[in-house]
Amino acid sequence: PLNQNVYNFNAGPSALPTAVLENAQQELTNFQSTGMSIMELSHRSKTYENVHNEAITRLKKLFSIPENYEVVFLQGGASLQFAMIPMNFLPKDTKAGYIMTGSWSEKAFKETTFFGEAYHVASSKEDQYRYIPEISASSFHENDAYIHLTSNNTIYGTQWKEFPETGQVPLIGDMSSDIMSKPIDVSKFDLIYAGAQKNLGPSGVTVAIIKKEFIEKANNDVPTMLDYQTHIKSNSLYNTPSTFGIYMLGEVLKWIELQGGLNAVAANNEEKAKLIYDAMDESNGFYVGHARKDSRSLMNITFRLQNDELEKKFLAEAVEEGFVGLNGHRSVGGCRASTYNAVPQEACLALSEFMKQFQQKNG
Ligand code: PLP
Repeated sequence: PLNQNVYNFNAGPSALPTAVLENAQQELTNFQSTGMSIMELSHRSKTYENVHNEAITRLKKLFSIPENYEVVFLQGGASLQFAMIPMNFLPKDTKAGYIMTGSWSEKAFKETTFFGEAYHVASSKEDQYRYIPEISASSFHENDAYIHLTSNNTIYGTQWKEFPETGQVPLIGDMSSDIMSKPIDVSKFDLIYAGAQKNLGPSGVTVAIIKKEFIEKANNDVPTMLDYQTHIKSNSLYNTPSTFGIYMLGEVLKWIELQGGLNAVAANNEEKAKLIYDAMDESNGFYVGHARKDSRSLMNITFRLQNDELEKKFLAEAVEEGFVGLNGHRSVGGCRASTYNAVPQEACLALSEFMKQFQQKNG
C-alpha cells in the first residue's frame, strides 16, 4: 500500500514503511498501556529503556555487527559526525585520508580542517563524481589516522560495490544513504555512521557503530557530548536521546526482519532499481544516467533529459501523477529517484511505466 496515494521518491527524509507508520499511529497516545505516548515517557523509565535496548540489539543482529563493536545513538545528524570523527580520531602528528566521491565527502573533509591534517586519497570530482575511484595500497599511507569514505553518494547516485582494503589503517564509512539496504562486512570498518532518516527511521537519530579497539585510540581532550566514550559508557543515555526517533528506528528494524532480513531487502532493492535503470537504458538516450554504469547506486538513481525544458515538463507531469521528490539535488539539478528500503516495488514499477509513456509522447 502507498501512503496517501503518493509514490514517495524523496532523498531524505524519505519514505517510511506504511505498516510502521500505521502501527505508530495506533500506539501514539497509549504506548503499551502506559496511558501515555512514547514521547511522554521518561527516558529513564523501564518501558522506554526496553525500547531503547531492543533497538540496539536488533540493529546488532540484523546488521551482523561483531561482538567487538559498540552501537550508539547520537544526535546532530551525520553532519556532526563529520566533525566528531577528526575531533576524536585525528591526532596532530598524523593525517587522515578522504576518498572524495561527492558533496558529502567534501563536507566531511572540510570539518577536518578545524582539528588536524587530511588529504584526498582519490577523487572523481573531475568527472562530476560519476564514478567510484579505484583505491590501491599506494593511494594512502600506512600511518594514516584513518581513511574515510562515503558508501553511497546520495546526490550523484553512485555507490561502492566493494569496499577498499586498507590493511592496518582504520576505515570509516558514512553510510547515511545505504545503511541496511544490503548485508555488508562490518568488520572491514572501524567506524560506521549514518543519519537515520533514509533507511532507518525519522531524522533526529544518528547511528554510530564503533570498533572497541578503535575507540581506545581516541583523543581524550574532547568536550563531553562530542566524545564517543560518553555515549558508549552511558548506553546512549547520557542526556535525553531522541526517544521517539529511537522507537521508530526499532520499529523499522522489526519491519526489516519481517521482510526476511537484509538479504531479502537487498534482493528487492536490486529489482526495484533495475526497473528504473532499464527504463533509462532502453530509452535510446532519452534519459541519460549521471553515474557510470559500474558505479550506479541502488538507492539514488540520477538522470537527465535532453534539455531543461523537457526535464521541467517531465518533473511537472510526474507530480501530477503522484510522484514526489524526483527533482535532483539543488546543487546538480536533473532528476533523482531515491529507492530506499521502504519504497515499494510498486512505486518503482509505476515510475518506470511513467518514464516509458513520457518518452513515447515526447520522444
Ligand atoms: N552523508 C550523506 C551520504 C547524506 O546523504 C547526508 C544527508 O542527506 C548526510 C551525510 C547529512 O546527514 P544529516 O542531514 O543527518 O546531517
